[in-house]
Amino acid sequence: MKISTYPMLDAEVVAGLVLERAPLLPVEEVAIGGWEGRVLAQDVRAPRDLPRWPVSAVDGYAVRSADGGGRLRVAGESAAGRPLERALGAGEAAVILTGGVLPDGADSVVMAEDAQADGDTVVVPANPASGANYHRPGADARAEEVLLAAGTELGPAEIGLAASLALDSLPLRRHPRVALLSTGDELFAVGADVDSPGRIPDSNRHALRAALVEAGARVTSLGIAPDDAAGLRQLVERALEDADVVVTSGGVSVGTHDLVKPLLEELGEVHCGRVKLRPGKPFTFATLRGGKLAFGLPGFPVSSLVTFEVFVRPALRKMLGCAELQRPRLAVRLGYDAAAAGDRTEYQRVSLVPEGSAWVAHTTGSQSSSRLKSLAGAHALVRIPPGADPIPAGSEVQAILLRLPAIPPQL
Ligand code: AMP
Ligand code: MG
Repeated sequence: MKISTYPMLDAEVVAGLVLERAPLLPVEEVAIGGWEGRVLAQDVRAPRDLPRWPVSAVDGYAVRSADGGGRLRVAGESAAGRPLERALGAGEAAVILTGGVLPDGADSVVMAEDAQADGDTVVVPANPASGANYHRPGADARAEEVLLAAGTELGPAEIGLAASLALDSLPLRRHPRVALLSTGDELFAVGADVDSPGRIPDSNRHALRAALVEAGARVTSLGIAPDDAAGLRQLVERALEDADVVVTSGGVSVGTHDLVKPLLEELGEVHCGRVKLRPGKPFTFATLRGGKLAFGLPGFPVSSLVTFEVFVRPALRKMLGCAELQRPRLAVRLGYDAAAAGDRTEYQRVSLVPEGSAWVAHTTGSQSSSRLKSLAGAHALVRIPPGADPIPAGSEVQAILLRLPAIPPQL
């Protein structure tokens, strides 16, 4: 058995050196219809006031507030998209429908239920408030105001807002292209009919593909590389043809079949071969020609997903141009005594339960790096800093939120 010569680096140091080397991807103009989940490369400003015209918020009568209390002559109608094409004179009202533009001269809308219509006249209450029941121009946004900042991820409301400005194309950063492969002679592709001793399904490729897609990457899945240097090299070189990033799992610990680190040494520069992290000690990171990134994730299923969370996801988000690289964090109370992992930072998987005004983190059971059940359904990872002493139940720790639990309605 070889002894690793790579220094053990602090997890924070590794996270920093990965982010430093993650390049911002180029900007492209993307037509509306293709914006979902992408990230704005420039601020979007309102090209003009929004709404552009004074529009009614209700069905009723557009009036001059000074005419309140009188019997007014109904001069016509302003419906959504079909404005009354003349100004309102003194003693006149116009029927107005929700979304209809106020005629010039009108400064108030009286709701239909507060008015008494009578033939082509209407009686409106005294003192209708000027400005009542309509949206003023610029009430939602002023011309030139920044409505969406560079780095914003585009979800339904952000897409709707850009479309409401009649923008049909936005400058967005390209998706990271990621080539994904698994390593190991013990693996078989899920779906293949293999049932022989020691062979296991290649589950990491599916888990990591899902994690990559969630992080905004376009994934090419290259399959399983054998535990031989030439076969692995061939697949990784193919991966580099058009990917920005190569992600492998397995083959980074120090057994005889661990070939990823030597290959990355040949192809580029390995910046990290061991991290003070549990799970995920053998996490490997290299830069290759053309500034491409290579992540050699550990083979154990929990280790590969946790190191993905800690190191790969923030890097991909930086490449995409996201303003916020990290998942939301929350201070929570430990609901169990957590043994610290000596000199390593540990990310333990927990479920969160509300108790009074606090969130309490309960362990998801055995934290073995092969036990994916510890992560499946977990709400968060809690970060247990290195140290000799256990962290007692009741202590406050940081939770990295993967998903939030439902809160019972009475809370
Ligand atoms: P390795 O670092 O290659 O020695 O892998 C460590 C362990 O992780 C292996 O013994 C397998 O049990 C597991 N493993 C490696 N790759 C995968 C994979 N693609 N899918 C599921 N489990 C894996
Ligand atoms: Mg292996």
